[in-house]
Amino acid sequence: HLVPLRRALISVSDKTGLIEFARALATRGVELLSTGGTALTLRTAGLKVRDVAEVTGFPEMMDGRVKTLHPAVHGGLLALRDDAEHLAAMAAHGIEPIDLLVVNLYPFEATVAKGGDYADCIENIDIGGPAMIRAAAKNHAFVAVVVDVQDYDAVLAELDANGTQTSYAFRQKQAQIAYARTAAYDAAVSTWMAAALGETAPRRRAFAGELAQTLRYGENPHQNAAFYTDGSARPGVATARQWQGKELSYNNINDTDAAFELVSEFAPAHGPAVAIIKHANPCGVARGETLLEAYKRAYDCDRTSAFGGIIALNQTLDAATAEEICKIFTEVVIAPDACAEAREIFAAKKNLRLLTTGALADPAAPILGFRQVAGGFLVQDKDTGRISRDDLKVVTKRAPTEQELADLMFAWTVAKHVKSNAIIYVKDGATVGVGAGQMSRVDSTRIAARKAVDMAEALGMSDPLTRGSVVASDAFFPFADGLITAAEAGATALIQPGGSMRDAEVIAAADAAGLAMVFTGMRHFRH
Ligand code: 5GP
Repeated sequence: HLVPLRRALISVSDKTGLIEFARALATRGVELLSTGGTALTLRTAGLKVRDVAEVTGFPEMMDGRVKTLHPAVHGGLLALRDDAEHLAAMAAHGIEPIDLLVVNLYPFEATVAKGGDYADCIENIDIGGPAMIRAAAKNHAFVAVVVDVQDYDAVLAELDANGTQTSYAFRQKQAQIAYARTAAYDAAVSTWMAAALGETAPRRRAFAGELAQTLRYGENPHQNAAFYTDGSARPGVATARQWQGKELSYNNINDTDAAFELVSEFAPAHGPAVAIIKHANPCGVARGETLLEAYKRAYDCDRTSAFGGIIALNQTLDAATAEEICKIFTEVVIAPDACAEAREIFAAKKNLRLLTTGALADPAAPILGFRQVAGGFLVQDKDTGRISRDDLKVVTKRAPTEQELADLMFAWTVAKHVKSNAIIYVKDGATVGVGAGQMSRVDSTRIAARKAVDMAEALGMSDPLTRGSVVASDAFFPFADGLITAAEAGATALIQPGGSMRDAEVIAAADAAGLAMVFTGMRHFRH
């Protein structure tokens, strides 16, 4: 099913690579049709082009809203070349076949990304482009369509392999890409409009992604998987530069994301911070005077779990920290940047992946989260909830000390990034026990305390690390038992949302144990 390529319609907003590509087509004897700006660019480069306006008999009008929307264009794209009636219609109306359509659309997504106003965004909704793309893709039995600059070389290779003809397999593949492009384009428009309307639950929602990487497998080796970017260019694992090591796996990407989102909560202006993640939960988070100190303190929270973990830093990786990280096996290190010396140190560790993002993620950025369920998916705002010290309500007889307050705020920030039920013990700006993902809150409290005892033993310390710590709970304590466990482990202060039927009982237990407790009025469930 080879189709000769005699005539191409080129209408592109992004003119990258246009002249070279059009010249290569012209060299192969292809006649070029173009819209205003594209034709001008080609003519200026000395190429012979026919204006679409000449083909349609209409000038481009209404600020370019109407250029190619005409039977002379759409008939040329849609006509079946082996259907007598179609051929008769073409002959009757003087419609010439178009064998290749090259279109890239008005930059709607880029206009939104750079903060264009409403009218600006509306004017950047391409109408004729998607119409032609869909027409050409529908008629892929005869017509080839190209929507990405990156495909120009593939078109030329296809023509050269087939004597200036295109194969069915090629046209069909391009058609699939074309429909994904128009779908993504309209998804972007609809998502932008929902935001402009302040609509969090529009009756219909569309979203789209672009393949970033096919993955060897998913969460398990028997699952197929792929990684898609959403076009938002948010700093993080999707947009990071990878300096070394093999490709990230599905689980690596998920964990690296969790690590970087967590560490991005800690503004570099307030000092270095490090998070170590295993199975999407932190097994150590710490601040330090230096990045090295922060890393060592994060590592000391749970050395066993940190093995094979993912490390996120809130500032440029330095040589000393790189040396220290190299002492154990780590899967991935992600940071805004890495100095040349640190990169050199890592170069000796072939399996260690180093990613740099250029910046931290904005933890307050309004982003939608999606979760699949059988027969549908859930959508919600990402948890950007934040509290300040002013929001805290002291509910016990004793108020927290300054040091306790600082640790309580730190613990609360970490709690937001731990799977529920989440219990976090913190001392001097470092986690000393993390209880994650348990079905009962008291179990999370016990597990975190137990781990702190184990770590103290491993470090040769007589006291468990939880002695003199503070505790954050991502949701209220339904009973006093969890709080009593924390007190027995040596905690002196607690932070939790409050709001339980048994708050009075829990507060009384805190007072009886001499604990200070604050309520946040905000919950941080994470499942
Ligand atoms: P040019 O730079 O050639 O003047 O315009 C190229 C752009 O116009 C392409 O992005 C193409 O998708 C778009 N386009 C082509 N035909 C039409 C049309 O009839 N209406 C609108 N709104 N855009 C069109």
